[in-house]
Amino acid sequence: MFLETIKILKEYNIKIDKKKGQHFLVSSNLLKREIEYAEIKPSDTVLEIGAGLGTLTAALAEKAKKVFAIEKDQKLFSILRKRLSSFSNVELISGDALKLEFPAVQKIVSNIPYSISSPLTFKILSSKYERAVLIYQLEFAKRLTAEPGTKDYGRITVGVYCKADAKLLERVPRKAFYPPPKVESAVILLRPKPPPFEISNENLFFEIVRFLFMHPNKKAKHSIKYYLKSKDIESNKLEFAPELFEKRVRDLTPVEINKIVNVLIALKKG
Ligand code: SAM
Repeated sequence: MFLETIKILKEYNIKIDKKKGQHFLVSSNLLKREIEYAEIKPSDTVLEIGAGLGTLTAALAEKAKKVFAIEKDQKLFSILRKRLSSFSNVELISGDALKLEFPAVQKIVSNIPYSISSPLTFKILSSKYERAVLIYQLEFAKRLTAEPGTKDYGRITVGVYCKADAKLLERVPRKAFYPPPKVESAVILLRPKPPPFEISNENLFFEIVRFLFMHPNKKAKHSIKYYLKSKDIESNKLEFAPELFEKRVRDLTPVEINKIVNVLIALKKG
């Protein structure tokens, strides 16, 4: 796969665009395992984000009923058209994955462009899928499965905790991609699940999560007072229960954040 990738890059005179996170998979063993982790059935539709040269796309198309493959880079898109023309079950979509509406699919399998990991993950979490196998930068992958209070814990951890089971399946060495990225990567499995606690107002919950994690080292009460001020809501009626509001944001569990949101909802009603 390595030699084949170099050949295609030369043949089409492709200048690699690092800003678009262009690192192409060259490990056939990893490709095989990605497909296995996805447990693709012949009846499945699959979405791939960032199809690149189409190596993963072709492997998915051999297993699935249909593959939707999104690619932003115009030159790569025209190469994909040629290289995948023999697959009648591949639908190529030209454009920015962050701006396009995702089709409802059973599986999402992607070696994602690392520069858009966070917004893309939030988008995947709110899309319709049953199982996602995604390769991320290792540092980012650790944030998806972090515990409260640790350095990796943050907004994305809470987002994932509320919407999916996330599992780090394996670490990926730099040489699995060409050109090799600066850092190691990791394969993550996401399976959607309902929130493990009742969220009364999901929009407000995620708005508060975003607001809180702008300052993870601040005490919750300071961030919340600031939030209320930004919304012109009086905070003097609010009882700042110390077990929640005296905690630093980075130490709040998702359940505790939800309790804070419920306090705010009660304040608005009262
Ligand atoms: N799937 C290929 C592979 O495994 O070899 C390529 C993976 S490469 C890590 C990421 C791909 O995503 C690149 O082809 C890049 O051009 C594309 N890309 C970058 N930003 C994108 C975006 N916003 N929407 C869609 N594709 C994007």
